[in-house]
Amino acid sequence: MWEDNVRKVVPYVAGEQPQRRDIIKLNTNECPYPPAPEVSKLMENMDSSLFRLYPDQNATSLVDVLAEYYKVKPEQVFVGVGSDDVLCLSFLTFFNSGKPILFPNVTYSFYDVWADLYRIPYKTVPLKSDWSLDVDGFKQENGGIIIANPNAPTGLYAPLSVIEEIIQANRDVLVIVDEAYIDFGAESALPLLEKYDNLMIVQTFSKSRAMAGMRIGFAIGSEAQIKYLRDVKFSFNSYTMNLPSLVLGTAAVRNDKYFKEITGKIIETREWTKKELTRLGFSFPDSMTNFIFAEHEKVPAKDIFGYLRANNIFVRYWDKPLINNHLRITIGTDDQMKVLISTLEAYLG
Ligand SMILES: *Cc1c(COP(=O)(O)O)cnc(C)c1O
Repeated sequence: MWEDNVRKVVPYVAGEQPQRRDIIKLNTNECPYPPAPEVSKLMENMDSSLFRLYPDQNATSLVDVLAEYYKVKPEQVFVGVGSDDVLCLSFLTFFNSGKPILFPNVTYSFYDVWADLYRIPYKTVPLKSDWSLDVDGFKQENGGIIIANPNAPTGLYAPLSVIEEIIQANRDVLVIVDEAYIDFGAESALPLLEKYDNLMIVQTFSKSRAMAGMRIGFAIGSEAQIKYLRDVKFSFNSYTMNLPSLVLGTAAVRNDKYFKEITGKIIETREWTKKELTRLGFSFPDSMTNFIFAEHEKVPAKDIFGYLRANNIFVRYWDKPLINNHLRITIGTDDQMKVLISTLEAYLG
């Protein structure tokens, strides 16, 4: 009966990664543009004989460049294999009180999976009917809080004053703000770090930095928080960050001009797409991300999803309560969005 002793979990389901190249892929919020040209050049010239060696377990070059970029000390930066890795380790490290942790009822669907994996009790706080955060719901006793801001899959951004009120009301627990989409026009909570030692911020290279395939994420927090995270990481796997990710990730941060160019372009395309979707009868919370969470006035989301899929356009659809009439549509290139809009027009018109 060995199976009685298994840690059974219900895993997170990621968006589909089709092998075909002719798909317009708007289902996992990747960047439609390649990484900076300097990154590609470094990749081509990489000395593969270095792969004999273990990578730098402290990820020094990447930690240093991030510390410089975000104007914090290197001791305040922790890097991991995508922000999923950073967040998962953070759950293990910080949510250890036995009291339920809190997060919104509609948010990144990995949070409840990690909580279940580590047997951390949790309570969800319902969003208001306009998908905004219910601040008072975060003023009950808890063992920690995690909030995605802007939120996924809604795309909605909570102003810093709202985030600050939640941090302030919870000085005795850690509040993690998952800023996976912060670079698309929203304001980061980073300046609040000076005031609150119970705040930690997590970001990723997967969306705005065009490097989902490299798997790089990071946390910025107090020196004490980062030390605790490092202790757990080094009790788990010393060499999480592979050599190419360290080298190419460092180069990506150095190329700030290119980063600003592509995020600016995506914001422009997003605003155009909002207008077109509105014209076609869609409504959505006002997105500050690289996706739009849209519902049609007449046609069920599931039908639109199926039609788009049959036409080689992949978007994300969840057959789950509260969100089963919405599509989450990633912002692609202008050309991709034009094909999306004309395909939708043919179907809905
Ligand atoms: C995409 C995403 C992540 C994880 O991204 P990684 O690729 O693991 O860095 C984390 N949180 C949210 C809200 C996301 O949308």
